[in-house]
Amino acid sequence: MNQTADVVVVGAGVIGSSIALELARDGLSVAVVDKAGAPGQGSTSASSAVIRFNYSTWDGIATAWEAKHCWEKWSDHLGGVDDAGMARFHRVGKAFLDVDIAPMDKVLVMFDRAGIPYEVWDADELARRIPGVDAGRFFPPKRIDDPTFWEDTDRRLGALWTPDAGFVDDPALAAVNLANAAKRHGAVFTFGKRVTDVLGTGAAAGVRLEDGTEISAPVVVNAAGPWSGAFNQLAGVGEGWTVTTRPMRQEVHHLPAPAGFNGDGIGPCIADLDLGIYMRGTPGNGLLVGGTEPECDVLDWVEDPDAINPNPTQAVYEAQATRAARRLPDLGVPGKSVGIAGVYDVTDDWTPIYDRTEREGFFVAIGTSGNQFKNAPVVGKIMRQVIKDETTLVGEHTGLEVDLSAFSRLRERNADSTGTVMG
Ligand SMILES: Cc1cc2nc3c(=O)[nH]c(=O)nc-3n(C[C@H](O)[C@H](O)[C@H](O)COP(=O)(O)OP(=O)(O)OC[C@H]3O[C@@H](n4cnc5c(N)ncnc54)[C@H](O)[C@@H]3O)c2cc1C
Repeated sequence: MNQTADVVVVGAGVIGSSIALELARDGLSVAVVDKAGAPGQGSTSASSAVIRFNYSTWDGIATAWEAKHCWEKWSDHLGGVDDAGMARFHRVGKAFLDVDIAPMDKVLVMFDRAGIPYEVWDADELARRIPGVDAGRFFPPKRIDDPTFWEDTDRRLGALWTPDAGFVDDPALAAVNLANAAKRHGAVFTFGKRVTDVLGTGAAAGVRLEDGTEISAPVVVNAAGPWSGAFNQLAGVGEGWTVTTRPMRQEVHHLPAPAGFNGDGIGPCIADLDLGIYMRGTPGNGLLVGGTEPECDVLDWVEDPDAINPNPTQAVYEAQATRAARRLPDLGVPGKSVGIAGVYDVTDDWTPIYDRTEREGFFVAIGTSGNQFKNAPVVGKIMRQVIKDETTLVGEHTGLEVDLSAFSRLRERNADSTGTVMG
């Protein structure tokens, strides 16, 4: 049966579900379509869901700080408690180890401007505050078969500590929470159907699903995660953009944490561009380890996100776990990997694209580059502003102004980007 709506959102990940919520809250009739069977089954389900504030741009930092307040007051953000259960933010703090490719002094100026609390730790303080950490400076990251990998160093590093950082314990449930909140405002979700066409000859006029159903709408939003590039092609957009997107496969591994790391609760998050990894404690005394695309590694670009090996591989596991053991020498590395593989939708400068396009009525919330789960609650509001042709967003919690041109498809590439998932 054909439908009509004010807006159709393609993708019910954490981004599409948040957009649906904010647009429905604003009084629009919203249709959301996802080829998966439930919200948050794409990239979102694989997310490490780390909530941090270090980005290379002011607008990235201001967005992340505003979003933290949404996670902290999740039921207020949703406008109620979800019967499906509630995703939960754990405030465990984050140590961003000091590396030249993410200059701390630049970040501190922006943290001061935003009012984000922090502590600057020297190497002794880092070793004191995170039990079992080796505060050696090993940069640049090396392959584990490099003969110098285990070489001692007398160089040491400190860290930028943000006590308000942490993680969300169930990223897919967070998407479910947003989708259910959107439904309470009247949004209609269709699952298990692929969108195969964008209607209209000039301006976008809706979408066609694989079973032939048509949803007419003057606004179509591409929130298709790693499938966004394929969907842009279908819509015929991308001409003249200065920033492009490309899917990249990533692995995240779960290990038993070394003694003391999680203390009596859950240990901190650590961004370690010095060794090419990030880590965080997990409930159940575990340690999660992901990669930060060090130059010595071959990046796993993919053509088709549906065709990836969904299982972690022994080689990537050994590389990431061994790097983690370099930083946390008491970490035991079990022979067999436990973890997941997911796909990032990466832009040239690891900054997302939240924008209109050259095709009237066709909008994009894409290129989330492995770092936008945390910002999802605010991305819904950003897209509401973009669709209304507004150029800024003022954070409800922080009062901080975000200049939306920072996320334009036509921006000058962010030259300050670390060139990694850290943005
Ligand atoms: C391994 C990993 C670790 C990460 N860690 C972090 C982290 O610690 N912190 C952080 O902030 N971010 C992190 N991220 C990034 C974050 O998870 C993503 O930016 C975010 O989940 C993207 O959400 P999305 O809704 O855009 O995409 P998705 O969740 O992929 O949703 C897109 C949806 O679109 C649907 N779709 C696509 N094409 C079509 C079509 N043609 N028709 C119908 N449906 C379609 C898909 O089925 C999918 O459900 C990580 C990502 C990965 C993969």
